[in-house]
Amino acid sequence: MVIEAEAGEEFAGSERLRVMGCPACGVLHAIPETLVRQAQQKREAMALYCPNGHAWHYLGTSDAQKLAEERERSASLTAALDQARAMLAGAISQ
Ligand SMILES: [Zn+2]
Repeated sequence: MVIEAEAGEEFAGSERLRVMGCPACGVLHAIPETLVRQAQQKREAMALYCPNGHAWHYLGTSDAQKLAEERERSASLTAALDQARAMLAGAISQ
């Protein structure tokens, strides 16, 4: 079976495939959707390879990394707020 495809298209057979264009050579190839989702989460920690052997990965920060950074920032702000409250309570009681 021959299917005409463009980058970004998806196919559903026994497994959903996403058509990708290699960032280095441009060759179109299909990658299982589950692998694409893993690569999107892991970013630079997971390389994908085109049929010509070029390694590439998704850029940017994954949702999991963003969440971890946001949690860290929230904990830091909470600690600063607690410290400010303690100082204010100390100033009022004097
Ligand atoms: Zn390539």
